[in-house]
Amino acid sequence: MRLVVDLNRCQGYAQCAFLAPDVFAMHGDESLLYNPEAAAEQRENVERAVAACPVGAILLELTDEDMKHVPTPDAVAGAAGSGGAR
Ligand code: SF4
Repeated sequence: MRLVVDLNRCQGYAQCAFLAPDVFAMHGDESLLYNPEAAAEQRENVERAVAACPVGAILLELTDEDMKHVPTPDAVAGAAGSGGAR
């Protein structure tokens, strides 16, 4: 997955560094460091960071590799239908 943080928008609130510490880190009081090519295993934490950023500064782009792990609608429908009451 690819990340871009709009550093003009970022206010250094550090929510991202708290929620995804392997990807984001504060350097000093206001300066943010981050890995723009975060590993796929970090996706859940990164999505939490994106949702938590109070100024919406984190943009996330999923790569083809990330999309391989997204369930298809058929798989979701099949899973939903397999355990229901009849
Ligand atoms: S949560 Fe948003 S505003 Fe706060 S440091 Fe991270 S990118 Fe910047």
